[in-house]
Amino acid sequence: MEFKGSNLIKLLLLTQCLIVLCAYGEDVHFFYFVQQWPGSYCGTVVRNCRHPKNKKPAIDFGIHGLWPGKKDGSTLRYCKPKIDFSASQLAGITSKLERDWPALTCPTKEGSFFWKQQWDKHGVCSNSILNQRAYFELTLDLKEGTNLKRNLSNAGINPDGKTYTLDKIKDALQKAYGFTPFIECYTNNTGHSLLFQVYKCVNAAADSNFHFIECPVRPKVV
Ligand code: 5GP
Repeated sequence: MEFKGSNLIKLLLLTQCLIVLCAYGEDVHFFYFVQQWPGSYCGTVVRNCRHPKNKKPAIDFGIHGLWPGKKDGSTLRYCKPKIDFSASQLAGITSKLERDWPALTCPTKEGSFFWKQQWDKHGVCSNSILNQRAYFELTLDLKEGTNLKRNLSNAGINPDGKTYTLDKIKDALQKAYGFTPFIECYTNNTGHSLLFQVYKCVNAAADSNFHFIECPVRPKVV
């Protein structure tokens, strides 16, 4: 097959466009912002949970991730082309990340293992809206703005070993946010149901005006 010069250039451009469309063709409609309760994660999902540098995690909800959501409640994952995680882009926010986004399974690895894993799996798919620095900064801001533990505490729900009904928890969060986040529970080996993860949604704002919204669809994992 022969191509004249200008046709070849057109074909190359078209091929490049198609590659970009394939990679980022699926629009980001919204994000799931997911927080996890360390005691529930460590008590039920994995053994030998340990905070980086062997400190105990804060008694607070940590971040699991910020996941671009699809219309059916699933999430975009491992988008191509891959954009390598760069630890240097987190300069100045690492201590905040260690506090708010601790990697609970890391007895030997540093916390950045979890951040890299989340960037590779979900962050790259958000890159049309958020570069790596913006992705991590936004996620930290969302954690700060959500006040999950305080809002539960205001309703008398505390990590004190007592049992609280799911309805009471949902009611407290509905009153605090004006919508009900999705709650994921785990049943531990003594048959107790533990509050594990809380899912809130965030608009996918091309103009960077991000804010919490009622989730358009139930996350598939819950
Ligand atoms: P995902 O649940 O997002 O598919 O995968 C999370 C990955 O990060 C797993 O390989 C898990 O072992 C690792 N990981 C490290 N620290 C944590 C943590 O604190 N919470 C969760 N959910 N996963 C963690």
